[in-house]
Amino acid sequence: MAFDFEMIKAVYQRLPERIAAAKKVLGRPLTLTEKILYSHLTEGVASKAYERGKSYVDFNPDRVGMQDATAQMALLQFMQAGRPKVAVPSTVHCDHLIQAKDGAKQDLSTALDKNKEVYDFLASVSDKYGIGFWKPGAGIIHQVILEQYAFPGGLMIGTDSHTVNAGGLGMIAIGVGGADACDVMAGLPWELKFPKMIGVKLTGRLSGWTSSKDIILKVAGILTVKGGTDAILEYFGDGADSLSCTGKGTICNMGAEIGATTSVFCYDKKMADYLKGTGRTDVAAAADEVAQHLRGDNEVYADPEKYFDQVIEINLSELEPHINGPFTPDLAWPISKFAAAVKENGWPRYFEVGLIGSCTNSSYEDITRSASIAKMAIENNLKAKSEFTITPGSEQVRYTTERDGLLQDFEKIGGVVLANACGPCIGQWARHRKDGEPKNSIITSYNRNFAKRNDGDPNTHAFVASPEIVTAMVLAGDLCFNPLTDTLKNEKGQDVKLKEPQGVELPLKGFAVKDSGYQEPAKDGSKVQVKVSPASERLQLLDPFPAWEGMDLKGLRLLIKAKGKCTTDHISMAGPWLKFRGHLDNISNNMLIGAVNAFNDKTDSVKNQLTGEYDAVPKVQRAYKEARVGSIVVGDENYGEGSSREHAAMEPRHLGVRAILVKSFARIHETNLKKQGMLALTFANKADYDKIKEDDTFDILGLTEFKPGVPLKIVLHHVDGDHEIITVNQTYNENQIEWFKAGGALNIIRSQVSLS
Ligand code: SF4
Repeated sequence: MAFDFEMIKAVYQRLPERIAAAKKVLGRPLTLTEKILYSHLTEGVASKAYERGKSYVDFNPDRVGMQDATAQMALLQFMQAGRPKVAVPSTVHCDHLIQAKDGAKQDLSTALDKNKEVYDFLASVSDKYGIGFWKPGAGIIHQVILEQYAFPGGLMIGTDSHTVNAGGLGMIAIGVGGADACDVMAGLPWELKFPKMIGVKLTGRLSGWTSSKDIILKVAGILTVKGGTDAILEYFGDGADSLSCTGKGTICNMGAEIGATTSVFCYDKKMADYLKGTGRTDVAAAADEVAQHLRGDNEVYADPEKYFDQVIEINLSELEPHINGPFTPDLAWPISKFAAAVKENGWPRYFEVGLIGSCTNSSYEDITRSASIAKMAIENNLKAKSEFTITPGSEQVRYTTERDGLLQDFEKIGGVVLANACGPCIGQWARHRKDGEPKNSIITSYNRNFAKRNDGDPNTHAFVASPEIVTAMVLAGDLCFNPLTDTLKNEKGQDVKLKEPQGVELPLKGFAVKDSGYQEPAKDGSKVQVKVSPASERLQLLDPFPAWEGMDLKGLRLLIKAKGKCTTDHISMAGPWLKFRGHLDNISNNMLIGAVNAFNDKTDSVKNQLTGEYDAVPKVQRAYKEARVGSIVVGDENYGEGSSREHAAMEPRHLGVRAILVKSFARIHETNLKKQGMLALTFANKADYDKIKEDDTFDILGLTEFKPGVPLKIVLHHVDGDHEIITVNQTYNENQIEWFKAGGALNIIRSQVSLS
């Protein structure tokens, strides 16, 4: 049950009634976001208005998407829930575990060999429980979902933070942890803090070198990595309607980089064209019938300030191409100012690798625009001056672009086509480094560029731009090259000025594919055996976490006071660790090894309070666990930003950390901690962060009276015998408090399924 047209028809059938009810309750016109959310309420027809940024609301998502790294833990958890089949259409996509090294064919064959037990597990568990399975090499989850499953007006969750990509096809699509996916596949409601809404009005038209990517690079610069927190970005205006569907996908995709819950575009002709172009004429026809419900009301867009919490306006006709970075995706540079920034900041000017593709920018349009630059290079005797890699987003795109001679153009200028997978975007990259300075630059058309993200090297300065800008840049190998104004010297010593890129939104001859890499699940999976070896180092069946002991937590030790940015990559690093995603104990050896200890400015070096010695973070925590001593992690702002991986919550839980106390949380991570039965707390007074000393012990008080909206107290016992009491906030609702008490949400799901 992967593609389900009946489900889509059912969604469209109930839309008018549910939207009418929501309008009645709210007493005003609705944004698109409200139409979709209110039509997916678990309670059915809306009975009250929900407070944005405050109310926790239960929804029934229409589908679930999982990538192979996060699917392992989600499905291990789902297996514990005791259901014969998933409750909603769900798919698994094998894209994260393929390491880029020599090129598509060789890398895929190596991955099939290396990850056999994981792929066998995922294929068998999908087969058994009615889940569509996309084999390794079939494509990157978000591109495949856009091509196959996303539909306007739908609500979807996915175990990856770039699930939001499906907003390009008018869907509210939200990245969650495996525990949430497990809930929805088990038929339980899914809870979300009702989001705030940011309206983004696009006027004018893109032209020349500017592309959809530049819109989101600009938005990231305006809103910063925290500006979208707890909000849905809704794009509208004639500029929005003029963008291709996949271009809209690019914009929504990178909404994850500003911390947005998700982003969404209104249904329009471009979406209908894309649905038809990807073989879903029936979905386009069904959407056409309810088209007015798949856009916000006209009154909203005529007077957006009245309906959105914030409104941003961008005139596409005036927008310049942007290059963002290094080390953060919100450091936005219009290309005309970038060369000066490179020189002023002393960033390594001559970059070693240019990489295009990823789920963000691997559409047919992206590839045609970039290939038009490659073609110009061939015609003008230019070659790539840096390494150059190309990642098609799906086998359908790869096959079609090869058929149309586009991939060959990249190869002719020195490009290497990688497997249809994440590869370098998630650190799965056996990078060929040149000898020389460790400080180096790369430029990608990906979405994330935090330190170490692509190659694990903190010296790598990663910049993000559109694929056509990256393609032009590799012909120079120089970050100070501006293709809009500068010329290149070719092999004959002639000056060459590149023309503007040209692209085609959808292939003129239509998409084609020989083997898409899809495996339909068994109709009756009851006889299918799930393959997990007890001796496996990569997969481990889960044991339930213990329930709360029913009393305040006292005598907790400080594991680490993390300083500055602490993303889920810092908490549970990717790269080589990805292979342990399905084995909680083994992967826990990476816990917090990327976080900077505020007391010595080092990573992976914390004081073991039992011995006074400094050691690696996981080792110290294992020592506390063995000694049956609970611990606490203290963090800074936006703790847990980045990807949705629930390992970042499960690892501390597994190793015995009891609470995470921070200045502020990223949304997905805070929820993940709650799911696992952890305490996710924030300083009521952020300055109290400075009161935490290295040898402190902590008592968390008020748990026996744990109630929504009521702060807790923490007693800090300093080593000199003094103590201080601070107030900490919590955002738990009634259900989440039950999760905490039961030791995790899964413990509750199991008991509910066994009772039903
Ligand atoms: S952002 Fe990168 S790692 Fe994540 S799904 Fe997309 S391509 Fe894969």
